[in-house]
Amino acid sequence: MQQNVDLQPLNTFALPARARWFCAVESLATLQQALQFAQAQALPVLVLGGGSNVLLREDFPGLVLHMQLRGVQRLADDGDTVRVQAACGENWHDFVSTCLTRGWHGLENLALIPGRVGAAPIQNIGAYGVEAGERIESVQVFNRETASVESIAAADCGFGYRDSVFKRQYRDSRIILQVVFRLQRSAAVNLSYSALAQALAGQQPVTPQAVFDAVCRIRRSRLPDPAVLGNAGSFFKNPVIPAALHRDLQQRYGDVPGHAVEGAEPLIKLPAAWLIERAGWKGRRLGQAGVYEKQALVLVNHGGARAQDVVDLAQAIMADVQQQFGIALEPEVQWVPPRQGADARVG
Ligand SMILES: Cc1cc2nc3c(=O)[nH]c(=O)nc-3n(C[C@H](O)[C@H](O)[C@H](O)COP(=O)(O)OP(=O)(O)OC[C@H]3O[C@@H](n4cnc5c(N)ncnc54)[C@H](O)[C@@H]3O)c2cc1C
Repeated sequence: MQQNVDLQPLNTFALPARARWFCAVESLATLQQALQFAQAQALPVLVLGGGSNVLLREDFPGLVLHMQLRGVQRLADDGDTVRVQAACGENWHDFVSTCLTRGWHGLENLALIPGRVGAAPIQNIGAYGVEAGERIESVQVFNRETASVESIAAADCGFGYRDSVFKRQYRDSRIILQVVFRLQRSAAVNLSYSALAQALAGQQPVTPQAVFDAVCRIRRSRLPDPAVLGNAGSFFKNPVIPAALHRDLQQRYGDVPGHAVEGAEPLIKLPAAWLIERAGWKGRRLGQAGVYEKQALVLVNHGGARAQDVVDLAQAIMADVQQQFGIALEPEVQWVPPRQGADARVG
């Protein structure tokens, strides 16, 4: 257990913040001891993986659990399907690479997403036509209410667009220890995302390795490297709006992108980046925080930004988009402490 630990190197936004208490969790036993300590001292607990989806708004007054459990294990392999278990502290991209190297396919579209395996189910990470939830069989968690280890089947994880039960009813009570994936030996690839299909046009056959390489190439060209320019990836979710509002926007602006999503009523998901750009924010700065010049969905730390700079920028963007388009943007990044009425995992 360490005290007064600097969290700036542990969040990809590189925002300054300190943890009153900090524990590097390398085993279940350490986790249990740390939680007992927090309980005895009535400390709030923050679970941290790679820190690539958090906005640390201030020093954390409680205990930060830095999840570092390691290990990748093949549980079963019938020649078609491979069941693989990965510990929460494994680096996500390294895990995707390992799977590819061993001929376990299905995660290649999710290459180069920063962070750790344990956070993948939290917001059901997704990119280039695939969501992690489609490949997850079960999630092993530590239940803080019963102080026991449980397995939650994927069907009970409530996976949705950047969403799961771990962001909602389980957000303060379950800590993810292991994730079990169901991968395929066959080399079938998912090219449903048009930019990916275009990047691979003319290649035959398209292998999982080719998909992995193309995804890495596209991501490197479009997204800032957090090691160079602090950021937490897409700052906002893409909003899902009634089709009638989308039609109304098309009448006003002509070229509004979007695609239909399933729902009880006709709904359209449209790119938040388009709204932010049309509201005039692309490339703009407020203090040391700014909107990335190549991708309006990404807020960046130009160096020396404080959390309040990012909060002010995010709120200014949200207010402008609301005023101009009547659409409420919802942050994808987890604010710590949470925004009023929003998701965050502090318990
Ligand atoms: C450049 C860049 C690109 C990105 N691209 C994508 C993308 O394409 N698609 C996408 O979906 N996301 C993307 N992200 C967001 C981010 O990488 C993912 O959300 C990732 O899964 C976060 O992992 P992490 O380990 O860094 O989580 P952290 O930021 O450490 O934590 C995120 C949340 O999960 C909780 N948490 C973490 N680990 C555990 C655990 N073991 N048990 C319980 N709770 C836990 C934390 O409390 C926090 O609320 C991107 C981020 C960056 C910086």
